[in-house]
Amino acid sequence: MSSTAIPSWPPSLTQSQTDSLLSAATDYALSHGLVYRPLPPPPTSSSSSSSSPSPPTDSVIHAPFSLVPSPIPRKLFERARSIQPIYDLLYSSIATDHQFLEAVIGGSVAKVDEFQAELWKIYQQVHDEGSEQKLHLGLFRSDYLMHQEEGGQGKGEVGLKQVEFNTISSSFGPLCTKVNELHRHLALTTSFYNAGKGVLDQSNLPQNEALRILSDGLAAGHKAYLSQTGLQGCSINSGATHTHLPYVLFVVQEGERNAFDQRFLEYELLNRHGIRAIRLTFQELAIRARLSQEGSEEASQILYVSHPSYDEPLEISLVYFRAGYGPGDYPTKREWETRLMLERSFAIKCPTVALQLAGAKKVQQVLSEEGILEKLLLQAGRYKEEVVAADGKEGQAVERKFVEAEVEEVRESFTDLYPMDDSQLGRKALKLAMESSEGFVLKPQREGGGNNIYRQDIPVALRKMEEQDLTSSSGKQGAGDGSEVKRREGYILMSLIKPPRGIGNILIKSGGSGGQADVQGSKPSRWIVSKDVVSELGIYGYSLFRPETDEKDGRVRVLKEESGGFLLRTKGRESDEGGVAVGFSVIDSPVLV
Ligand code: ADP
Ligand code: MG
Ligand code: MG
Repeated sequence: MSSTAIPSWPPSLTQSQTDSLLSAATDYALSHGLVYRPLPPPPTSSSSSSSSPSPPTDSVIHAPFSLVPSPIPRKLFERARSIQPIYDLLYSSIATDHQFLEAVIGGSVAKVDEFQAELWKIYQQVHDEGSEQKLHLGLFRSDYLMHQEEGGQGKGEVGLKQVEFNTISSSFGPLCTKVNELHRHLALTTSFYNAGKGVLDQSNLPQNEALRILSDGLAAGHKAYLSQTGLQGCSINSGATHTHLPYVLFVVQEGERNAFDQRFLEYELLNRHGIRAIRLTFQELAIRARLSQEGSEEASQILYVSHPSYDEPLEISLVYFRAGYGPGDYPTKREWETRLMLERSFAIKCPTVALQLAGAKKVQQVLSEEGILEKLLLQAGRYKEEVVAADGKEGQAVERKFVEAEVEEVRESFTDLYPMDDSQLGRKALKLAMESSEGFVLKPQREGGGNNIYRQDIPVALRKMEEQDLTSSSGKQGAGDGSEVKRREGYILMSLIKPPRGIGNILIKSGGSGGQADVQGSKPSRWIVSKDVVSELGIYGYSLFRPETDEKDGRVRVLKEESGGFLLRTKGRESDEGGVAVGFSVIDSPVLV
């Protein structure tokens, strides 16, 4: 994926223009729910050290956002959107391919990574039991950075490279929809916003469909469950008896500051689809959730949850995880038991454990190996049948051809990815990581930001892992089957993507969002003029799918898939990581150039 030059950015604004825009923007943000819960109060010496303090629930601050949209070449934006359906199919195919998951997760990272090992155990148990619920729902986000080769004569073309593909808790769609509306509002209501010579015209600001698409995905899962249970077409809008309709369950984190991003999905489900949802944490579910055939081997087990707002337990159609993607969500065995119970239930899971595992960074690396994409896309029915002449007679033989262009487009979005095992490629990767670490990031199988190891820290981390391998009893990890798996095998090595330089923006953070030394302006909103920002573009999609047959041949049947809607997150180049929730970046939206 490549394109042409990007204009100088942002358009220059005077101090008073910036102040006026800032005031309009923060008011818009607060009055349209572009908000977070404030930071929790700092712990006092008398507060208990066992539980971290929760944020106040009676006030909000605006989420961090950019004052102007950031430029993205139109061609790259459209390309990212056009390949999303292929990615959706690809990951649907992976989640239904037992052999693939066994080789890539069970036989590899689950042996050295405790978190992956726990997920793998649940996957195996449910797979062996053979759940009656064959459907999986994925709400996906594929993330990209612009890439420009440096050095040599002049600069190279700008392309787009994939950072990662998220299969669980893909967040910020609703809030980014709000930022997009904010930028469109500013473009309509301020003339000097357009100092960018017409670039900031509304026609160059693509409308964000993320909120609609993500809520439609959840609704598709819920409606599929209703059909399975003979309730098709029923909703609270269709006059169906109120109390006995199933609910969607949002599994959330305790003290979630980004709760409103989730709430908007809940409200869309109710307003547009007549579907009700409840929110509970793993800790609450441990007490409140049960299966209809508790303790039995019965395959079809309805999930019931009691909720303080209702007299009777509620039947759950769909479990939507906005928690459970990292070890911090499972402080004790109890949370793992709860996850297993949810997974074993007849409710549809978004995502299933299989789909969560499919989103592992290790899978991303394996996809870049030869022939893998073709195999998985074939399983997803992504080939065309062509009648070809055989022995001079027309229409005799049918040749199955890949939609080669699709494979190529997906492959072009990959950056260099390496395993950290003892294969030939793994040994090459180790050498690169030790000797040329400046060009790489080392990634564990983790989600949620803040886990990666960058540049010169890589050799240090690898040496430490090697020492641990040597000192731990027998130098082997977890497998217990005599195979020697080194700690580094739980990681992948990825070449660093190099976003083009010289694009700036004005990043706005609420005064209540935590201290930052180089922030200008005064409370309540503070802004940073950054002359060199990096924007990460995410494209959303959903897929409702099941294995084609009971035979374990990996073929997948996609019942419903839709993609579109975006997230743009922008940060100063100096920060390696880009998570909004962890405070490094702001929510942005693209202006197409
Ligand atoms: P997570 O699942 O924790 O979000 P990511 O793979 O998205 O993990 O990495 C976190 C952040 O690190 C990204 O948002 C991006 O800013 C940065 N990053 C990750 N991979 C690369 C890469 N290959 N090149 C440059 N930056 C990267
Ligand atoms: Mg990420
Ligand atoms: Mg991720």
